[in-house]
Amino acid sequence: MADSSVMKEKDNREVLVGKTTAEITQLLVSGGHPAYRGQQVAGWVYRKGAASFQDMTDIPASLRTELGEKYLLGLPELRHKDVSSDGTIKYLFAMPDGLTVESVFLPYQQRVSVCLSTQVGCPAGCTFCATAQGGFARNLTAGEIVGQLLFMQRESERRISHAVYMGMGEPLFNFENVVTSLRLIGSEVGISLRNLTVSTVGVVPGIEALADADVPVTLALSLHAPEDTLRQQLIPTGRKWNINEIMKACRYYTHKTRRNLTFEYLLIGGINDGVDQAAKLATLLNTWRLPGNVNLIPFNYVDTPGGYKRPTPEAIRLFREELEKSGRIVTQRMTRGTAISAACGQLRRNVAAVQQFDLRLEAVGSPSSL
Ligand code: SAH
Repeated sequence: MADSSVMKEKDNREVLVGKTTAEITQLLVSGGHPAYRGQQVAGWVYRKGAASFQDMTDIPASLRTELGEKYLLGLPELRHKDVSSDGTIKYLFAMPDGLTVESVFLPYQQRVSVCLSTQVGCPAGCTFCATAQGGFARNLTAGEIVGQLLFMQRESERRISHAVYMGMGEPLFNFENVVTSLRLIGSEVGISLRNLTVSTVGVVPGIEALADADVPVTLALSLHAPEDTLRQQLIPTGRKWNINEIMKACRYYTHKTRRNLTFEYLLIGGINDGVDQAAKLATLLNTWRLPGNVNLIPFNYVDTPGGYKRPTPEAIRLFREELEKSGRIVTQRMTRGTAISAACGQLRRNVAAVQQFDLRLEAVGSPSSL
């Protein structure tokens, strides 16, 4: 208790999580150590789950002590953890300055996914989103993004195979750090870039820059409305980048990366869940000839000024059928009860949706869900 209220003295030690093997090696070499020591340390940081320098058992004790004096591993601190009966774990992590973000560990039968935050809070201001209501504090560093994954990996016997940038924040508002973190997860942790998904509210310059960055991850677009007037009511950044500009950037992304997109469509009862809106959405995507599934995400209740509510099962069905008529593959994820909290249920469902697998099928027969 007392700890959190006491201001910590600023720690000037350099943080290792967030640096590449080459950079860590450089530090070790400049300290007079052989290069292979750098590789060993990086291996412990990214692949062998060291919680401290003392865990690095193939490093001589004197060097471990020296490293601890000069450097910090830089993993986040656990503040809170909720474990659901289906195996989902929601983490609340504190960064070195005490600010907190959420991450989620999502075990399924065929894969183990994590949902990562990219910012503390979010400046996008979407009217249906819980994170937006808390405002924005700062960007996370690349090390703070990867650190969430490393912490969760350390706690799990199963290997994390997928990561979705769908926690707190807008990834493309924190472009440099997000791209650095994707590269680190790809090359240092060893998860294929194909298994990483970046979800965006539609930041046009960010989508274009990501296409050019040579990190061919899956891009998920939070579309949520088929026309600008409605979209702008839901997503304030829609006033800066309209749907046509976003579609153009998405087309560039698919051409450049050869990856399909995922279109996320949040369904809010009586607001954007009409059959006419489904028809407009189908026309929009087909006109732009954009490949990719549409994932329907029923609104997860958040007490918003707009008083939004969940769509009825009937409305969801009609919306889906209308979209399917256009030849589009539509995935729809229904909520499974989660003992954790509404926000986590929301993340869990959304992660399943963008990764295009069926939460219910994955859950059937999974021992953790029984
Ligand atoms: N800023 C990024 C990623 C974080 S939000 C983005 O906008 O895509 C991750 C996803 O959760 C987005 O699709 C977002 O629209 C959705 N989301 C936010 N609030 C929600 C709610 N109350 N119910 C269901 N999904 C929600």
